Amino acid sequence: MAMRFCILGSGSSGNSALLQTESARVLVDAGFSARKLGQLLAAAGEALERIDAVFLTHEHGDHAAAIEGLKKFPHLKIFANAATARAIGAKLEHRPDWQIFETGTRFRFRDLEIDSFAVPHDAHEPVGFRFSTGYEGDLLSPRRSLAWFTDLGHAPQNVRESLRTCDAVVVEANHCSDMLKADVRRPWSLKQRIAGRHGHLSNEAASELLASVASPCWRHVFLTHLSRDCNSPAAVDRAFAPVRTALRCEFSVVSPGGGTPFYDFA
Ligand SMILES: [Zn+2]
Ligand SMILES: [Zn+2]
Repeated sequence: MAMRFCILGSGSSGNSALLQTESARVLVDAGFSARKLGQLLAAAGEALERIDAVFLTHEHGDHAAAIEGLKKFPHLKIFANAATARAIGAKLEHRPDWQIFETGTRFRFRDLEIDSFAVPHDAHEPVGFRFSTGYEGDLLSPRRSLAWFTDLGHAPQNVRESLRTCDAVVVEANHCSDMLKADVRRPWSLKQRIAGRHGHLSNEAASELLASVASPCWRHVFLTHLSRDCNSPAAVDRAFAPVRTALRCEFSVVSPGGGTPFYDFA
């Protein structure tokens, strides 16, 4: 097993994924209550007791809500940049085992190499990640990489570059621009925030991002963080049809609130 990955849950009600390698079991974001996270992990055959670390992209509740409840699991290392740790820590009654990294740097955890990338989003210092394991040309332990970019208002050049050499890509397809415009439940100001350069990627913007990078390395693209009210798997299918045809890799559209089965990086 080089690397295995499954999305435990995705959308504005919470985001988290499980990544397993030979010597690490980690969560990417933890946007549920610790109890719910435990249930999602149990469904994937895992348990919080066996998880080594959590990597946080930013402090929003749909990515970090579990940190308070995870005090019952003090062995967990919580990776975040200083601004994110401060924002989350200010509301906590305990001090997690913070592992602070500097945005834009590469660091290691066991057999994982992690790159962090600054992304534009309305949080203190939001990041995307690339997780890699293995070695180029090594038959027993080939190099495999996963990119994780949810919650970005637009895709700057560093994000586009980082996607190029990944085997699997997780990117948000948050809303359909027309459905967001037509939505009557959200006030105008919130709609502006969502659609703005520090909000979320629309289907159209995410599909343009994929088309502009269009890497031959990609084997699987996961479209995530779909809005329950302002998007639908059908709208995603429509928006991504041209890029899916051009890209000849697997696509998974993760329904709001849903997850995925395990994906094996063979
Ligand atoms: Zn966010
Ligand atoms: Zn989010």
